[in-house]
Amino acid sequence: MTTVIDGDAVAKDLRDELAARVETLKESGVQPGLATVLMSEDPASETYVSMKQRDCEELGIESIHVEIDPEKPAEGLYGVIDDLNADPNVNGILVQLPVPDHVDKREVLRRIDPAKDVDGFHPENVGRLVAGNPRFKPCTPHGVEYLLDDAGVELDGADAVIVGRSDIVGKPMAHLLLQSDATVTVAHSHTDDLAAKTRDADVVVAAAGVPELVDGSMLTEGTAVVDVGVNRVDADNEKGYELVGDVEYESAKEKADVITPVPGGVGPMTRAMLLYNTVKAASSQEDVPVDLP
Ligand code: NAD
Repeated sequence: MTTVIDGDAVAKDLRDELAARVETLKESGVQPGLATVLMSEDPASETYVSMKQRDCEELGIESIHVEIDPEKPAEGLYGVIDDLNADPNVNGILVQLPVPDHVDKREVLRRIDPAKDVDGFHPENVGRLVAGNPRFKPCTPHGVEYLLDDAGVELDGADAVIVGRSDIVGKPMAHLLLQSDATVTVAHSHTDDLAAKTRDADVVVAAAGVPELVDGSMLTEGTAVVDVGVNRVDADNEKGYELVGDVEYESAKEKADVITPVPGGVGPMTRAMLLYNTVKAASSQEDVPVDLP
């Protein structure tokens, strides 16, 4: 019997726990604050940022939002980051990616105070993660790790295959799984015979951005399958599209021991982990310990 992981439910429980930690912080006179910075008119980016603001409000975290005209020079964004770094009311800073082409993304990531870098993308925080001493775990892989743990998936000694090697999902995921003592293979677009790799795996994390790349024929009975992918594909419905993951759900479910759906799997956990990191940032900056789940 396959267990379908309910990411919405796990994320809701986590958010409730985080709301209690926000209360503890407030009782100690600390009002946690997250700044979101948007330098884009891309509707998807606008939606992501407004969801993050709403999530903060629901939890009692103050949300500070700054919008910068995407036509303006990069220095405007750098100046905003400097101001937010210096602002004691801001515990976490999130610059919504992608930034326009004329802005140096690496400089943006470097410029954010690492203590406020709730995305975990600053080189110092990447280094700490690789060294096995993470400050902020990047939200999506952290969410995957939490779901696997919540579902009781044994990682110690497991063979894990991650499909995708991006800086925001695949690579940090590999480090988190290594730190749980899994044996990790990172597959990517140059990998020869992906199916041979996934068929040998106890855990598959699909994060390639390719609709239904991993199907049941590529899996062995009993695998834990986590689908990070979110892909829009044309569909004969009102919207004209539907969201599908990187896993062909029906055939994969036949083989999997546990599986995450899309939507309702990893997505809600990514959102919850941003709140987690913001609570962690406020706690450590203000020196008010809270016991995080
Ligand atoms: P990316 O485009 O930066 O990286 C994709 C990776 O997949 C690359 O390393 C590439 O080499 C690899 N890849 C591409 N085609 C492949 C193939 N045929 N076989 C093996 N590997 C292949 O993407 P990303 O930012 O890591 O995102 C991956 C997916 O996860 C996307 O669908 C994205 O929308 C989704 N995503 C979801 C969440 C969430 O919260 N649910 C968060 C981040 C990303």
